[in-house]
Amino acid sequence: KMLSSKAYMDIEAKYGAKNYKPIPVVIKRAKGVWVWDPEGKKYLDCLSAYSAVNQGHLHPKIIKAVKKQMKSVTLTSRAFYNDRLGSFLQKLCDVSGMEVALPMNTGAEAVETGIKIARRWGYRIKKVPVNQGEIITCNDNFHGRTTTIVGFSTDPGANEDFGPFTPGFVNIPFNNTNALEKAITPNTIAFLVEPIQGEAGVIIPDAGYLKKVREICTKHNILLITDEIQTGFCRTGKMFCFMHDDIKPDILLVGKALGGGVMPVSAALSSKAVMDVITPGSHGSTFGGNPLACAVGEASLDVLIDEALAERSEKLGKYFLEGIKEINSPLFKEIRGKGLFIAIQLTDEAGKARKYTEQLKELGLLAKETHEHTIRLAPPLIIKESEIDWALSILKQVFIG
Ligand code: PLP
Repeated sequence: KMLSSKAYMDIEAKYGAKNYKPIPVVIKRAKGVWVWDPEGKKYLDCLSAYSAVNQGHLHPKIIKAVKKQMKSVTLTSRAFYNDRLGSFLQKLCDVSGMEVALPMNTGAEAVETGIKIARRWGYRIKKVPVNQGEIITCNDNFHGRTTTIVGFSTDPGANEDFGPFTPGFVNIPFNNTNALEKAITPNTIAFLVEPIQGEAGVIIPDAGYLKKVREICTKHNILLITDEIQTGFCRTGKMFCFMHDDIKPDILLVGKALGGGVMPVSAALSSKAVMDVITPGSHGSTFGGNPLACAVGEASLDVLIDEALAERSEKLGKYFLEGIKEINSPLFKEIRGKGLFIAIQLTDEAGKARKYTEQLKELGLLAKETHEHTIRLAPPLIIKESEIDWALSILKQVFIG
């Protein structure tokens, strides 16, 4: 039976762990860029489930692929072959320019997979002494929530009292190639980096950063692992963010929008030579590469390509960014973005971002604060100019009055 928003929030609070502090809105229905609460109020989704719904909610082509696949087979495990995995991986390699892929489910699993591939490569190919390998990571990174991953997080909120942690990680400042060169030792295996730090607040490095990082990694024979779980699949105006710098990572981590807003689909991609360190029995997942996920993944990629969502993200991202800048609120410290991956950083005087995201919600715009002073705006990439105009009018109401 249909409950009120308050009743849904109450029952979740009663039976659920308190690992999130959601904006107080209950979503009961969604279509494209819009979502509805149980009372029938409509909201513009400017979070897209942390960029996992780049194609828009319930995209007809993706839902059609789901329905079709549900009539044949949904889960086989990798103990057997299935008729969907090969063509899905082929398409994923095609769009990314990588040679081979290992399918998983969540983003954190893709990151763990990347770490395992890199370490094996380090010991077996680069000949770093076994168990001595180091992977360099960045301050303020966000790569997921497993114990290994939170171990190299610099956010106490993410790792306090969850130790002891996996050794072998060294942190350096983001956007600092000198620090990278200095941190490299003979035991360094890889550098793991987000091309734009999403959860840190859409932190965009200097132009040319990734290109220089690529040069350094090549020079020192260390693997460049780019985590494009949030920046990938057209979010920043290219299929992948690394494409802005005209480089190629050694290991590419993808997730979120690969699942088209339907289910978790992730992967680690690399060259054949690197991936060959993974041998039967050394890694896997019951659900990774399941036929339903492959059907969803393939349809999700088709939509990104067929609807030219990279170009759309680039064009409408500029439009949105300029529009926000024109609002010119005294509460804005900085507006930054690439494609439809945008952040408003508020001044210290503005106070915490949460009060503004709650006001935006009251007016029908859903966005989430990231850290205390930043609001991220990342709508589905199918958003129309008129819908951006509407979002701008709401932002204006909240930040100008
Ligand atoms: N890596 C990045 C860059 C992310 O933004 C996220 C999620 O926000 C993850 C990894 C983890 O993905 P998941 O929540 O699917 O495990």
